[in-house]
Amino acid sequence: MAKTFSEARAALAQGHSVVAGTQAALAAAEAQQDLNAFLELFPHSALEQAARVDARLKAGDAGPLAGLVLSIKDNICYKDHKVSAASRMLQDFTSLYSATVVERLLAADAVILGRTNCDEFAMGSSNENSAYGPVKNPLNTSVVPGGSSGGAAASVAAGIVHAALGSDTGGSIRQPASFTGTVGFKPTYGRVSRYGLIAFASSFDQIGPFAHTVADAAALYQVMAGADPRDSTTSRKALEPLDLAHPGKLRIGYFHEGLERAGMDPEVVAHLHAQLDRLRAEGHTVEAVEVPLLDHQVPTYYILATAEASSNLARFDGIHFGHRSAKAQGVEETYRLSRSEGFGPEVKRRILLGTFVLSAGYYDAYYAQAQRVRRILRNKTLEAFERFDLLLGPTCPTTAFAHGAVTDPVAMYLQDIFTVQANLVGTPSISLPTGTHSNGLPFGLQLMAAPFADARLLAAAHNLF
Ligand code: GLN
Repeated sequence: MAKTFSEARAALAQGHSVVAGTQAALAAAEAQQDLNAFLELFPHSALEQAARVDARLKAGDAGPLAGLVLSIKDNICYKDHKVSAASRMLQDFTSLYSATVVERLLAADAVILGRTNCDEFAMGSSNENSAYGPVKNPLNTSVVPGGSSGGAAASVAAGIVHAALGSDTGGSIRQPASFTGTVGFKPTYGRVSRYGLIAFASSFDQIGPFAHTVADAAALYQVMAGADPRDSTTSRKALEPLDLAHPGKLRIGYFHEGLERAGMDPEVVAHLHAQLDRLRAEGHTVEAVEVPLLDHQVPTYYILATAEASSNLARFDGIHFGHRSAKAQGVEETYRLSRSEGFGPEVKRRILLGTFVLSAGYYDAYYAQAQRVRRILRNKTLEAFERFDLLLGPTCPTTAFAHGAVTDPVAMYLQDIFTVQANLVGTPSISLPTGTHSNGLPFGLQLMAAPFADARLLAAAHNLF
């Protein structure tokens, strides 16, 4: 089976069919069921769509993604298909409508193979929080694939699909991309519609692609991006033309402070320095830059994201949405038991934290203060983009860890140390698989650009690495 979309397109030109490609992908998914990457395959709708695409290819009017086989994370709605956010709360819930991204991708002739496992309600960094069991990393099944979009990353890394949709609230596309040796792209906040994405933290969430190459990720982005009247947070700014030509000599900043922290893998640091030397030798300007408020980023993210989650998840009460306890009598008990039975421990922890930081008496000390820190961080990051085209750093401090190795929630939250800035500020950011550790596992470098410089970021990622 063709690994990348470009290869799949070449195969089509040689007379291969989309139906055959889809059948091969279904077989590959079946053969690798032990990864637990997919919660469900959609053979019926996938093969129907594939046959339609084959007909359009024959008629010469196929869309730009004809030949692409894709998976979607289990928090993205697809009409008449189940979506559960990997939670017991939404077990057997069927979507009444499709997310805007799903509509756009199908209209461009992509085939959706199935829905992928993830951390419950996208909360986590290892894909061990799913109500349907953990996902294994296809490169080494004893380690995690990262999270929360772990199934998405695994579905690409295992060669089952050409690309996958994930969501990134604090790093959930880029960290699993780093752990699985794939490309993971989080677009600028407001570039891709969130309509039909089950909300975790609405001012942070963005949908984005996983792929084997930047060009494939860019092809998906181009179809998905743009204003959507159904999501008022999408930007009406005109879409910048996507041009993957070499962007010329760039000004690149790198975060040196973060590299000296305890817990940084020395091989990841050495790799970054080697890449910086190469970029300098190629004529780019490379300078160290201070990370704004590094030690405040993760706490700020966890105050604001949990506050938003506690509000967004209030709708899952057994009456409006979600699992209803069979034991409950009366309204209050229905809320209490349904939520106690439906949510897993990490989701409960986040709801409690978020409710606490929003409660009267603590609001000013936590929530309002964190909003101020977010504003300062945004201003300082935008200032840095007056001097630099790109900011470069590691995606994660380490390579993928063993299942069960990280049990302390705070230690798990520190996985996000390099990724949350992009979500707090709204910048586009991409993780590229540039390194291989002596332990045999891959790791990524992360590039960030100014808000709405997505096209420039993709061009730099495509040509410089
Ligand atoms: N690891 C982060 C969290 O647990 C990020 C999650 C995400 O991006 N969805 O909140």
